Amino acid sequence: MQTAEQLITDAGLRPTKARLAVLSSLLNSHNALSHTEILAALQGIKEIDRVTVYRVLDWLQEHALIHKISTDDRAWKFQLNAPKRSYKATDASTNSGLLSNHGHAHLQCQRCGTVLCIHELAAHIPQAIFDTYQISHIEINLKGLCPQCQQASA
Ligand SMILES: [Zn+2]
Ligand SMILES: [Zn+2]
Repeated sequence: MQTAEQLITDAGLRPTKARLAVLSSLLNSHNALSHTEILAALQGIKEIDRVTVYRVLDWLQEHALIHKISTDDRAWKFQLNAPKRSYKATDASTNSGLLSNHGHAHLQCQRCGTVLCIHELAAHIPQAIFDTYQISHIEINLKGLCPQCQQASA
């Protein structure tokens, strides 16, 4: 498993304390995290406040290291992108970058709000759609109850 520092330097980018802290919190979490959850996890680090976390999350998305997922309570959640595939995130001539980053499914628990990335299940979107529509975001969401919440309600 790569460290946050490796992910940033491998992408040819400059790691800072805040970038490393935010990326590490996502790297260490099985679930997608909201801005609030990341901020709570990083409490006590002097350089990090709400604005810094927003800025770093934007920066990480810009550089295709993470993606955001919409949730029922209107808060975005964030998670790492899938391990490097053979596409260039900046290649605008194909939609493979968009598909690799956003075209996978998410499992969302409607009780506790947990969000998981399911990279094995990906969208198969006909090219004709990209030819006619300018797609900016793709989401496939599966909603229900996670194992913990099923147990709690049994
Ligand atoms: Zn749950
Ligand atoms: Zn995802």
